[in-house]
Amino acid sequence: MPKKIPIRQCAACREKKEKFALARVVRTPSGEVLYDAKGKVSGRGAYICKDIKCLEKAVKSRALSRALECDIPDEAFAELRRQFEEQEKEADDGQN
Ligand SMILES: [Zn+2]
Repeated sequence: MPKKIPIRQCAACREKKEKFALARVVRTPSGEVLYDAKGKVSGRGAYICKDIKCLEKAVKSRALSRALECDIPDEAFAELRRQFEEQEKEADDGQN
């Protein structure tokens, strides 16, 4: 039997993908909004394509605020952007 792969939906573009193809953003119980690279942070989570365009769309359309049921502070958005950018760089390196 093949293992069942969990499918999650991007909060920005609504595309459904395998869980590990998406980035998880979490609002922790203390109210911080974090990028959860390992999928281990507890709290309310939302999934976004590993694409900075989807991140921006999710924040600007407030889809991420709705999914996490909180406002996304500018500093948290800046930090998420930085981590998405780094991730994109890593992905590029992997292709070479
Ligand atoms: Zn997306």
